[in-house]
Amino acid sequence: MHCPFCSAEDTKVIDSRLVAGGGQVRRRRECLSCRERFTTYESAELVMPRVVKHDGTRQPFDEEKLRAGFIKALEKRPVSTEEIEQSINRIKHRLRATGERELKSMVVGEEVMTELRKLDEVAYVRFASVYRSFQDLNEFKEEIDRLSNPNQEA
Ligand SMILES: [Zn+2]
Repeated sequence: MHCPFCSAEDTKVIDSRLVAGGGQVRRRRECLSCRERFTTYESAELVMPRVVKHDGTRQPFDEEKLRAGFIKALEKRPVSTEEIEQSINRIKHRLRATGERELKSMVVGEEVMTELRKLDEVAYVRFASVYRSFQDLNEFKEEIDRLSNPNQEA
């Protein structure tokens, strides 16, 4: 890259090391023209898509919020932290794999419900009751009836 001080094209790497647990490369560079030194960081681009809410506002994907939602829904349920982390990783992987830069919040919500349903059906219903915009109570009740009668396909 060009020197950020004098814009000369030739800079040389004088030191290179792995940082952030091997997730990044830190390079110390020196400009061959002005001799200024600077540092660059290189990492794979694994940016999570931004989330588009119902009102059209955009916000960054918030993993902590997602984790807090899982923990809340799974309160006093027999599901380990490790299982929750695996679910969160699967969700992140699938959201990235869409290749989209923006996703509707509904898409994220559906992913959460898919994972919760696998982990614990009680938690799934808890989450659904809060996050899915059930149009009316009947719809919510149908979902509970369906869950309590697993042989009946929706
Ligand atoms: Zn320079």
